Amino acid sequence: MNPITSRFENLKQLEHGEFDVLVIGGGIVGSGVARDAALRGLRTALVDRHDFAFGTSSRSSRLLHGGLRYLEQGRIGLVREASLEKRVLRDIAPHLGDPLGFVFPAYRPEGRPLWQLRIGVKLYDLLCSFRNFGASRGYSAAEIRQLIPGLNPVGLRGAVRYFDALTNDARLVLDTLRSANAAGALVSNYTRFISTQRKADFWVVRVRDERDGREFETRARTIVNATGPWAQGLAHSGVALRLSKGIHIVVDRARLPITDAVVITEGKRILFVIPWGERLIIGTTDTDYRGDPESVETDVEDIAYVLKALNSAFPTLQLQENEIISTWAGLRPLIANPDGSPSDISRAHQILSPEPAWWDVAGGKLTTYRLMAEQTVDKLLEFLRRPATRCRTAREPILAAADTRFSGILPAPFSSESVSHFVNQEWALTLTDVMVRRSGWHYYHPDAAIRACQVAQWMSEVAGWSAERTTSELADYHRLVRNRPQKTAAPER
Ligand SMILES: Cc1cc2nc3c(=O)[nH]c(=O)nc-3n(C[C@H](O)[C@H](O)[C@H](O)COP(=O)(O)OP(=O)(O)OC[C@H]3O[C@@H](n4cnc5c(N)ncnc54)[C@H](O)[C@@H]3O)c2cc1C
Repeated sequence: MNPITSRFENLKQLEHGEFDVLVIGGGIVGSGVARDAALRGLRTALVDRHDFAFGTSSRSSRLLHGGLRYLEQGRIGLVREASLEKRVLRDIAPHLGDPLGFVFPAYRPEGRPLWQLRIGVKLYDLLCSFRNFGASRGYSAAEIRQLIPGLNPVGLRGAVRYFDALTNDARLVLDTLRSANAAGALVSNYTRFISTQRKADFWVVRVRDERDGREFETRARTIVNATGPWAQGLAHSGVALRLSKGIHIVVDRARLPITDAVVITEGKRILFVIPWGERLIIGTTDTDYRGDPESVETDVEDIAYVLKALNSAFPTLQLQENEIISTWAGLRPLIANPDGSPSDISRAHQILSPEPAWWDVAGGKLTTYRLMAEQTVDKLLEFLRRPATRCRTAREPILAAADTRFSGILPAPFSSESVSHFVNQEWALTLTDVMVRRSGWHYYHPDAAIRACQVAQWMSEVAGWSAERTTSELADYHRLVRNRPQKTAAPER
């Protein structure tokens, strides 16, 4: 395998290069396509206008899951596909898939009946070919109250427990990109696709280095549009999306020391309370979004909705807004269907070729990204009249950081070595890249704003920043922190 190549080197080669495929978008889908294409011998380049994983792929619920709730909608094929993929991902990236039990309580007179849940979880295991991370089972009301103290006892009939896995979405993107790069793909963040024109056998593509504003051209025989929520905005795109917003909040796990995830309900919708180290991740919402994908944010109504669901499920908890450590908001790039609520719209993916040599890959889930990539690269090979080389991504492990201190489900240890690794081995260019997507410190630590001063100092040493650059990086990051709900001082754990 090749060593990681720097952004500078990648940009230089991009400018003078001719590629079999140019992938637009460095979220999970684009990263998966780039890795698969490079492993199958295609000359591959990938650009992202922001940092890698800037979009939805760092703002999910972080689950590798088949999607139990889609069984209710009769989407057996979709659940089967995702269930098998969650197993594959755990096999190729064991450092990014922690099996996790989910407790789903049943209430009467409202809520799903216990018998239905019992059948549902058995079917869920079956759809995973009985290779789920653990066998599902049922509990009586008395048992479940012991297992999850504080759960609302009124109308509680019992519960089921089933298995999915917790991952780290941004880390999955970064490790996939590092694998793609090691297999020969050029990847460049802060590099925006501007426009393209077909000339003879090639697309002549105009891109801009968003760090210095310089525009240049590159050439590619095919293009894959993997820009998630931005996908319908690109010229040549044939995709129509319905964007749905979902938010999460992070709170201290000491307030609700559960070891399993808990499924809570708000009307027909379900939300998850997910243990994440010393924190809990709680979400999500599902509301239509018609704004600019650049500016999706958590708003007060979203927070009120999640807190209401949580405090009704655990009535003695009474968690307050000022206890929230961090939040994130993301957009599901769902394939458009004007009817029904966003929760009812299929999470199936779509691979379209609205004109020769251009593909849009949209929809789907984090969990199914590898399969989406495989199907896309199959089409590229056919178009390019290359031998149908077998896809290797279901067997070949994803490159983990050589030292697992830097790559995992929990945030990296807070150290100058981590920062140096992120800058030199993972293309981090800004303080926010490190705080948010490389390390996860932004979401995890209540004192992230203070820690950022130390990180800026370390980055200035590693990247050779001037005093002015260090100050402006801090100002940018602190603007982001100001956008999160104010937390009252709490002792650091
Ligand atoms: C709230 C929420 C919870 C979710 N939870 C889960 C879950 O638990 N499990 C699961 O399997 N799935 C989950 N999903 C779904 C999953 O996160 C998404 O399907 C997936 O991340 C989409 O990835 P993507 O690569 O298509 O898009 P993105 O990650 O958004 O990537 C698109 C990229 O394109 C770039 N881009 C845009 N325009 C340009 C341009 N002109 N030039 C270059 N680059 C450009 C953007 O900067 C961005 O980085 C969740 C989604 C949401 C919103």
